[in-house]
Amino acid sequence: MVSPSQTETAPPARPQRQSSRPNGQWKVDGTAPLNGNEVWKQEDGGLNVRERIEKIYSKQGFDSIDGTDLHGRMRWWGLYTQRKPGIDGGKTATLEPHELEDKYFMLRVRIDGGQLTTTQLRVIGEISTEFGRDSADLTDRQNIQLHWIRVEDVPEIWRRLEAVGLQTTEACGDVPRVVLGSPVAGIAVDELIDPTTVINEITARYIGVPELANLPRKFKTALTGHPSQDVVHEINDVGFVALRHPELGLGYDLWVGGGLSANPRLGERLGAFVSPDRVADVWLGVASIFRDYGYRRLRNKARLKFLLADWGPEKFRRVLEDEYLHEALPDGPPAPTPTQQGDHIGVHKQNDGRFYLGVTPFVGRVSGTILTGLADLLEQHGSTRLRTTPHQKLVLLDIVETSVEPLIAALDALGLAARPSLFRRSTIACTGIEYCKLAIVETKQTATDAVLELEKRLAGIDVPQPISLHVNGCPNSCARIQTADIGLKGQLLPGAEGGQVPGFQVHLGGGLASVGRDEAGLGRTVRGLKVTADDLADYVERIVVRFIADRTANETFAEW
Ligand code: SF4
Repeated sequence: MVSPSQTETAPPARPQRQSSRPNGQWKVDGTAPLNGNEVWKQEDGGLNVRERIEKIYSKQGFDSIDGTDLHGRMRWWGLYTQRKPGIDGGKTATLEPHELEDKYFMLRVRIDGGQLTTTQLRVIGEISTEFGRDSADLTDRQNIQLHWIRVEDVPEIWRRLEAVGLQTTEACGDVPRVVLGSPVAGIAVDELIDPTTVINEITARYIGVPELANLPRKFKTALTGHPSQDVVHEINDVGFVALRHPELGLGYDLWVGGGLSANPRLGERLGAFVSPDRVADVWLGVASIFRDYGYRRLRNKARLKFLLADWGPEKFRRVLEDEYLHEALPDGPPAPTPTQQGDHIGVHKQNDGRFYLGVTPFVGRVSGTILTGLADLLEQHGSTRLRTTPHQKLVLLDIVETSVEPLIAALDALGLAARPSLFRRSTIACTGIEYCKLAIVETKQTATDAVLELEKRLAGIDVPQPISLHVNGCPNSCARIQTADIGLKGQLLPGAEGGQVPGFQVHLGGGLASVGRDEAGLGRTVRGLKVTADDLADYVERIVVRFIADRTANETFAEW
């Protein structure tokens, strides 16, 4: 079968769904709100809650927060209530939201393009230690997420973040979320285009502005100028992937309509070539199509992928060009298949002769102490720059050759590995039951325990390729389970001695464009294949050993 990434021109549009009911598309049905969320978003948008947080809620405490602000608008500023400790996963579906939630918040700091200075990193680390019980997670969207935040402390946290150029604006909510950018932008020897200017332009012009602050739901962006295609563009609402056009030179291949969760769908190429100077306009055009034509009646149909599924790429491109850009985009070919892994782990030479180091904690879990320690360590070695990645990892920049090995040793002591085992390298996990109100099972510790166990059991065995293990705490897909070799969807399973125990539904064979894989594919659910959390390491060990024994020549896990 020919994949979207291989087609030279966009496939024909599928017939548009006919529906007698309005879908809440502003340009088709008018702007009358068709559900409760749309009502309050129009009455008083999410951005407006900041003033109330500053003037009222932070002074009068959690109990003074209006319910719609608490469960709706505060997300526009990166704030979610976190799960009350000690409530087991069996109660997630039966308790009311207010019975599940604690009086503390998760706070997401958006880091567009993943670009950080050590000064910024230190500020995040200090906030974590001082206000967040030393908690911090690197997310798989290049954000850093803190926990245990009290509303009383939020204004001071904003003051400190904004003083160093960081923000939580639109880190969550029905808005353009953080812009994923290649973690090696501007430094990789083999980079095609540095997308930093474009990322900065998009965030400066369009984040926190009323024009795009009421979208049907979240809108995710990915932009890379690196041939490893390191930003999981296939599962974003809009993606730009650098390539060299045979006649037009360097620019981007445009993708739209990807997204996972309950109805996973890979994005599709529009077959259009976007020159670097047009990216921000094209991005605005796609975001505006979503705002104006996106479905708003049902929340579970309100992502761009549903509109693309109905329109098809040909119509989508036509509307983009005719109604938003007012000119045609040139046709373009797909970007070539990556020839290197896009997690950037290990030691790599920069374009200025210095080095960058890709390092990983276990499944994104760090702490304020680690982040502050890392800022100190980097500065001791003459570096002031680093990047977060879409794989829950960090890339440390500007390391001189003589510092590489001493720094690696010091990073190991800090819990950050530059030469991790294959399992530590390719395992990610979502927030899970520790903090997430939707979670059914624990994820971070379960995944860490499995990795440590697999490192012992498979020591000395030559695993021929990284086998990715993605662990989710519920049927949502924050850890991208459908794009992993082994994806695990949290659920409760019958225990051997009665009752229910934490476990996972298994998805096998997913993956995004990567070395040896020229097309992305979603993992398939294996009917009846479930594994308890306690048996996770056993299961992965069995399947890996079988794969090694059975595989032929260069067969990949997905092909096996
Ligand atoms: Fe929470 Fe589920 Fe997302 Fe995990 S996948 S962070 S449990 S919503």
